[in-house]
Amino acid sequence: MSNRIKPLTAFVANQIAAGEVVERPASVIKELIENSLDAGARRIQVWVEQGGVKRVRVADDGAGIDADDLALALSPHATSKIATADDLDGVASLGFRGEALASIASVAKVSLASRTDDAASGWRIQSNGAGEPVVEPIAHPRGTTVEVSDLFYNTPARRKFLKSERTELAHVDDIATRLALGRLDVEFDIRSGGTTLHLAAAGADGLRRVAQLLGDGFAEAAVPIDEAYGGLRLHGWVGLPTHSRAHADQQFFYVNGRSVKDRIVGHAVKQAYRDVLFHGRHPVFVLYLELDARQVDVNVHPTKYEVRFRDARGVRDFVFGTLNRALRDLRPQSGGVGATTAQATGARYDAPVARTIGLPLDAPTEPFDLLRREALVQRQARSHVDEAHPPYVPTGSTPPLGYAVGQLHDVYILAQNESGLVVVDMHAAHERITYEKMKAARARNESIRQQRLLIPVTIDVSRADAELADEKREWLASLGIEIDRAGPTRLVVRAIPALLGTSDAANLLGDVLADLAEGGASDRIRHSEDDVLATMACHGSIRAHRKLTIAEMNALLREMEVTENAGQCNHGRPTYVVQSMTDLDQRFLRGR
Ligand code: ADP
Ligand code: MG
Repeated sequence: MSNRIKPLTAFVANQIAAGEVVERPASVIKELIENSLDAGARRIQVWVEQGGVKRVRVADDGAGIDADDLALALSPHATSKIATADDLDGVASLGFRGEALASIASVAKVSLASRTDDAASGWRIQSNGAGEPVVEPIAHPRGTTVEVSDLFYNTPARRKFLKSERTELAHVDDIATRLALGRLDVEFDIRSGGTTLHLAAAGADGLRRVAQLLGDGFAEAAVPIDEAYGGLRLHGWVGLPTHSRAHADQQFFYVNGRSVKDRIVGHAVKQAYRDVLFHGRHPVFVLYLELDARQVDVNVHPTKYEVRFRDARGVRDFVFGTLNRALRDLRPQSGGVGATTAQATGARYDAPVARTIGLPLDAPTEPFDLLRREALVQRQARSHVDEAHPPYVPTGSTPPLGYAVGQLHDVYILAQNESGLVVVDMHAAHERITYEKMKAARARNESIRQQRLLIPVTIDVSRADAELADEKREWLASLGIEIDRAGPTRLVVRAIPALLGTSDAANLLGDVLADLAEGGASDRIRHSEDDVLATMACHGSIRAHRKLTIAEMNALLREMEVTENAGQCNHGRPTYVVQSMTDLDQRFLRGR
């Protein structure tokens, strides 16, 4: 190599730029959809073949590209979106760097067909790396269709980094969903091969549209947000704390329509949920922040996932304040650990199936102390005692959660402690205990004790799941699950964790594999281990509607007392509530 300096050819320079923006098929999809949105499309169709590695096509009904500009669209640093450096201060479009199509064309074969309103026909340009691209007339409706095939065909080193078709498709789905959620006014039709992934109509009311993309579960648990202050507006929906997830995979934040992952905002949201979410759970939200384009710099990174706010602190305080208030306003419906006021408990019991929203914000972190002493002190301080109905006086030392007196509809355990009545959600409590036990065993680096099944259970799964299970065989064994591969799509479960008793092994494994598929990359194994343990705990726990003996109930209460975080189940719901004698007395107007 001579040490003389030579300029790189445009093609090589583009390939270098492509290294930053084109990582995988999903990044191609992102750039193409953003271009369609910038062109004012009302309808966008996305179609991928083999996870997008073979082919990606995005068609829109936007403004189109002038035939004379087709070649320019594929060349670097050519854009219709900004013209001067001043325009950079206040970019309103998603694109502006003019390098996406050029980068993509340097690592894949690109066909760009388009027609503007006043053109007599459509035109197409095709670029496949060999020779000058050709422009020719073609039938095309108003709008643009971009087709990108054989990604990284000329850069084998990068092609090697592509993951399985399934993984690439998951990324495509993720990014397309993200972009579709950003613009509820545009119709999206997203397909893979012959399968429709999403069909989100425009015009449907906002939340319905969100449900089309994220499922009905979110829509049911969504709290609407809309607040404006000092030039900032935050609107959208946040999920109830009870609708939290094991992964931060349903968090959507948009700044002026651009999907971003901003640390400052992420932190503000986390803070707002801090007191209402069980550690390790992640809230779900779709939030749109709008502010003057000049107040935010989007030219921070080529992929534009990051932005820089002029007044980062103001933005953080506004987001935190808005969400914090919204979550607090949910309180009247809540009840839960340590909630001893008549209203709170009333609200929890009025409905046949109590609808709770998680822990009250001021739930004491040490509920037992509070249970034990506070009510007592209060009661003893009361002077106006009615002689005919002397108040309940506790005797001896009762354990914090008291002793069981019975079971209510086979769902709740009723117990009596020093302060009054304790109502325990059997399933939630048992789940927590099992989870903490398994976690403790893992923290001591022990394997979880197995229990061999008398009759091994055979289950049929997808090939991908079978491979995943195979790959994670040893790790699963350390968690107490022993499996064998019995065919391309067949697994045999031979043992399950002893703690889980007589769980349905097939069901259990199915859910564990789902957890793994979601968080399975090996660097995330620690993280997914907690999820897997939580899933297993849920399976192994006493289902509601099981009769327990008084001794069994007392055993459960004693275990709760020595279990960390026993005040809430793994889903952040309370495991018990207390109705103190004071509250009961007040309800019956005793002592007045
Ligand atoms: P940028 O979006 O940053 O301007 P791109 O390389 O993505 O750069 O696109 C280059 C140009 O091609 C755009 O500025 C735009 O004028 C045109 N273009 C790309 N895609 C479309 C489309 N779907 N509809 C209309 N014009 C498009
Ligand atoms: Mg672009």
